[in-house]
Amino acid sequence: MRALFMGAHPDDVEVSAGGTVQTLVEDGWEVWITTTVYEGSKRLDEGLAAAEILGASYIPVSGTHEEIVGSWSDIGDFDLIVTTPITDSHPAHRTTAKIGLALTRRNDVDLWEMNHAIPGGIANSPDLNHFVTFSFEQETNKQRALKAHKTQDTKYGDWWRPAILARDRYLGLMVERGQIIAYAEGFRIVHSRS
Ligand SMILES: [Zn+2]
Repeated sequence: MRALFMGAHPDDVEVSAGGTVQTLVEDGWEVWITTTVYEGSKRLDEGLAAAEILGASYIPVSGTHEEIVGSWSDIGDFDLIVTTPITDSHPAHRTTAKIGLALTRRNDVDLWEMNHAIPGGIANSPDLNHFVTFSFEQETNKQRALKAHKTQDTKYGDWWRPAILARDRYLGLMVERGQIIAYAEGFRIVHSRS
């Protein structure tokens, strides 16, 4: 099974789906992380380091909408495509969602949207209808991957990673109904394979 996680910027997937990527990799999935906006070689290196920590392959792409769709179509079919949400307040996140949707034209594929980025405003959360739980060890590893994004870690300061941890704990507690150590990430299933 193959999954493609699409962010606009190099930290988008780690923030909203770093635990889920690990659960898929542990289940034997081949997981690719891609980003659609070129943010310079430093953030490219950070993206590579973070993806390696999660056990995924990082292949950034940039270009026009059509070029990006073309380059990923050439790589072959996926069983699951996960994008930034179409409701996101960031225009590049919305564009990435549209590119993900375009990729589903070629095959019957599951399509999910990630939760909105942190930070990223409060009025742009997708209607979450699917949750993936993961362990303390996986959350610890997710935090390591976030830390690998040194540019963002420095830019957003001491509250960034704890805020992401708090959202994962909040969702984990809600989904597992009171388990002490449970973490979760939320998604919106846009399409399930027929
Ligand atoms: Zn972003």
